Amino acid sequence: MIQLKSSREIESMARAGAIVGRVLAMAEEKAVPGVSTADLDEDAEALIREHDGAEPAFKGLYGFPATLCTSVNEEVVHGIPSEERVLESGDIVSVDCGVKLEGFYADAARTFPVGEVDSETERLLRVTRKALDAGIAEAAPGRHVGDIGAAVQKIVEDAGFSVVRELVGHGVGRSAHEDPQIPNYGRRGDGTELQEGLVVAIEPMVNVGGRHIRTLDDDWTVVTRDGSRSAHYENTVAITADGPRVLTRAEVQSRSQRE
Ligand code: MG
Ligand code: MG
Repeated sequence: MIQLKSSREIESMARAGAIVGRVLAMAEEKAVPGVSTADLDEDAEALIREHDGAEPAFKGLYGFPATLCTSVNEEVVHGIPSEERVLESGDIVSVDCGVKLEGFYADAARTFPVGEVDSETERLLRVTRKALDAGIAEAAPGRHVGDIGAAVQKIVEDAGFSVVRELVGHGVGRSAHEDPQIPNYGRRGDGTELQEGLVVAIEPMVNVGGRHIRTLDDDWTVVTRDGSRSAHYENTVAITADGPRVLTRAEVQSRSQRE
């Protein structure tokens, strides 16, 4: 069932989203060679808890053990932070963060380069970010879920990369995952019509190689089946009468958000 949000509820989500934005900006600064994904997680939890009433939304969600999902290189999503996973120059790390505040969730992700990355990896990050922005641009009243997916898919496939299909974006609000599902592929005009007050997490997961994925024995970490690298960008977006409103930005924009 789709649950529309009032403008007051969207303001709560924007306050949760601003904290998510701050965590991701901090993670971008800290994701340098020699830092472990557990270090990022610890700092993220501390930063979230500095905000009155804010909680790390993923910790305990479906049994996930940490504040952040940290997914390195061929890991697509849901990587578990670990002291043993020390970032090296040339890696990429996808950081996914959720915050719960005033009864509402906000959810966003970015993929950061660690040190110097190769040009194909840079292109992967650029294309995935552009695909997210193209999806967001469709998030307006009267458009359809399929318009978002079609816009994302076109950018990704025109660049020669592939879109993960088994995992999708979603509605978000009083629950972390609400209807409707927001696939990163599709056809214009298909699916639910978007209306004012709907809030969605749009989150392309893009692989350099084939689109297929598998889950590791830890039952969480999703990797590309062919071992190619994968990037993940996500924002929580409110559909308003004026068009899309991105709720997951820190007031002070980070480097990747300005580009
Ligand atoms: Mg997320
Ligand atoms: Mg999400």
